Amino acid sequence: MTTPVRRQYLQLKRQHPDAILFFRMGDFYEAFDEDAQTISRELNIVLTARDAGKGNKIPMAGVPHHAADAYIARLIKAGYKVAICEQVGKEAIKGLMPREVVRVVTPGTVVEPSLLDAKQHNYLAALIQQDKQAGLAYVDITTGHFAATLLRGDDLPRLITDELTRLNPAELLHPDEQTPPPYLNCHLTPLESWRFESGKASQTLLNHFEVSALDGFGLAGNLLAAQAAGAILQYLAQTQKGALAQITALNVYNTGAFMMLDSHTRRNLELTQTLRGEKGKGSVVDILDATITSMGGRLLRNWMRQPLLNVDALNHRLDAVEAFYNSAAMRAEIRAALKGIADVERLTGRVRQGIAHPRDLVDLRQSLAKLPALIQTLNADNTPLFAEMAAQLDPCADVTKLLEQAITDNPPAKLSKGGVIRPGFSPELAAVLDGSREARQWIASLEQQERERSGVKLKVGFNKVFGYYLEVTKANVDQVPPEYIRKQTLVNAERYITPELKEYESLILNAEERQAEIEARVFQEVIAQVAAQRKTLLKTAAGLARLDVYQSLGQVAAQNNYIRPILSDDDVIDIVDGRHPVVEQTVQDSLTGRFVPNDTALSNQDLVWIITGPNMSGKSTLLRQVALITLLAQIGSFVPAGKARIGIVDRIFTRIGAQDEIHAGQSTFMVEMVETAALLAQSTPRSLLILDEIGRGTSTYDGMAIARAIIEYIHNSPRLRAKTLFATHYHELVELDKYLPHVKNYNVAVSDEGGDVVFLHKIIPGGADRSYGVHVAQLAGIPKPVITRAAEILRELEGSVALQEQKQQIKRTFSSQQLSFLGPETHPVIDELKALKIEELSPLEALNKLFELQQECNEK
Ligand code: ADP
Repeated sequence: MTTPVRRQYLQLKRQHPDAILFFRMGDFYEAFDEDAQTISRELNIVLTARDAGKGNKIPMAGVPHHAADAYIARLIKAGYKVAICEQVGKEAIKGLMPREVVRVVTPGTVVEPSLLDAKQHNYLAALIQQDKQAGLAYVDITTGHFAATLLRGDDLPRLITDELTRLNPAELLHPDEQTPPPYLNCHLTPLESWRFESGKASQTLLNHFEVSALDGFGLAGNLLAAQAAGAILQYLAQTQKGALAQITALNVYNTGAFMMLDSHTRRNLELTQTLRGEKGKGSVVDILDATITSMGGRLLRNWMRQPLLNVDALNHRLDAVEAFYNSAAMRAEIRAALKGIADVERLTGRVRQGIAHPRDLVDLRQSLAKLPALIQTLNADNTPLFAEMAAQLDPCADVTKLLEQAITDNPPAKLSKGGVIRPGFSPELAAVLDGSREARQWIASLEQQERERSGVKLKVGFNKVFGYYLEVTKANVDQVPPEYIRKQTLVNAERYITPELKEYESLILNAEERQAEIEARVFQEVIAQVAAQRKTLLKTAAGLARLDVYQSLGQVAAQNNYIRPILSDDDVIDIVDGRHPVVEQTVQDSLTGRFVPNDTALSNQDLVWIITGPNMSGKSTLLRQVALITLLAQIGSFVPAGKARIGIVDRIFTRIGAQDEIHAGQSTFMVEMVETAALLAQSTPRSLLILDEIGRGTSTYDGMAIARAIIEYIHNSPRLRAKTLFATHYHELVELDKYLPHVKNYNVAVSDEGGDVVFLHKIIPGGADRSYGVHVAQLAGIPKPVITRAAEILRELEGSVALQEQKQQIKRTFSSQQLSFLGPETHPVIDELKALKIEELSPLEALNKLFELQQECNEK
């Protein structure tokens, strides 16, 4: 025989076998059995035992409910799920409190602010793969952002990885029979495959959005995306029913509308974290983020993850940034006005889900109260752009007024304590509080009254067990009036009550209970009224986020001396005096203190820049700066340059040779080649390729040969012809400009006067001829004797006949080799073939033409 509560527990636990069940008992959440052992270990709390009937002891461990958030956070971080079971209703039924699992907290469905990064989205994603396609959907339940897309292509696994790294979801749902791509740093949750099934998923979407067809979402013929989206809704229905109401729209998007950035490129360009893995500090976002609000911070990161391809849309953003750039006064005012505006977006989410605390409403009230002044500031300038931004903001005066009237100035953190609702807002509450106040006053005056009435020296006190009492010291007990009822005997005093005292006492205690009950009810009513304004609130939150990003980009541009890029749809990247946004900051902080700006001009005429130069001379910096200037331009930011003309780029690919990142089971060279293969397969003439020391991971000759073949391929293959910056320390590659008309040589200037070597960081036309490795060794602090000896060996080697011969041989090979691809200046036969209008030829004419062409070939 087990106890009823044990049976209730086991039944609930059976419904959530993969989660730790937090079972509410009074003021505690208790865990039992294995769960108890787990949480005792993970949270470092005492493991006790509880009687489960017939003297049967089971392990138990618990955490106080008011501190549960922090404990749940630790369990989620450690990779567990937590099912929260509450007591529902007020009355026990047959001695047993009814209980229910109200939500399951998983990494992708947390709502606790302590578990969230204010400037990052927290995404729950779902992925289903079928044949050569995949459906991907994601949601942030704290903001209600819900989106889905279809991925397809020859290189599907890479597309999936790229999109997932962009989103960086906290949790990924997938059908239990499919394995998602490896190397993902998120919690994987397998779901039964039928949840992804198209009929079930579509029906879920139809029901949720209360529509009769999915076409309106752009989901017609896009079943896989619908399947992923449907699985998410089903999972939320299981874990976070409250969150479903938050989701009112589904944004079906096409990854083709944005600049593609694969995961390596994101990392290599150190957009949101440095290659050493530090979040924020030293990354591009660290320079670019001067947002004040969390909403702005999140939007800026979204923009950085999805650069646009549309010139008009970008110019619209740039106009707004420019407006702030031009007005330091407006920037200062708006920055000041945005301070103290809380996360209206997430607060609205909490309100909508019914989990807002009293102080959330205060934050919301204070934030909204700041809006009228903010709007006025924007409008005062008489600039249409600022007025347009102001028009996006609705001060939600009704909500502000309601919150001002209903919620006290400084309410306690939890509702249960009372003191949240202003008595003036609820006549019912006011009446209860008045009654209670009178009773308290009566009791407060009782001591004085009784002393006067009976002449006994006594005092009034209160304790939890007996309530209010009159205490008389032993010395005075014989003077106690007969109507006093003795309640408790202490060592040197007696405690009494009177019927009247008890009456007032119950008035007070009832009032407390009534107050809590009324406040809870009114609070829910207020929340419901605020929730009804959800659309306006979210629209305003979005307007605030945009405003914040614009001012941030304007601020950063003004502070760092950026300029507005000129965007176009042509094939040109022309940067004058470009700088690297991060390196220029670190150099400014250093002793030399000066960043050397450089020009870069790429077009279909100057297609491939081969940049040679010693290590540490600034090649990588140049390569990355061109990529970053292009990327910044395509998020709508000003750029670190003197002038910049950017023809829209469809993707930036970076391949940085032989880094120390060893993937499981793959050599660095293998990784390098896999990535290069992807880049060659996916680039288009609108792409920008950044190739740094390709081929470094293998032997010199291998590396050189591969490097050369890659350049030839990019240069000649009509499908590619992507603008390319190629940094290399193989000086032999400079020969290529003799054979490939659109290859240009550049090198980094070095001043070498009498052995005094200085890297000037200036890019100049022409190829480099020396590597200055010994100089770099010296810079790095290698001891003097080693440097001297190395210089000596180098001189000997350079003088050696064998080495000279070897160099000559490579040179000969490079120049004698026929190009394996047809260059852009192709064979006349090909030109003729291309120009042929086959549909206008008779079969005989065609045959004749064929014969003619063959002869022409043989002659050549
Ligand atoms: P490489 O790729 O040629 O080995 P890097 O691009 O890594 O060289 O640059 C090495 C260092 O030189 C950088 O960390 C930076 O301190 C400095 N540097 C690079 N480019 C510049 C520049 N344009 N102006 C000033 N300093 C620079």
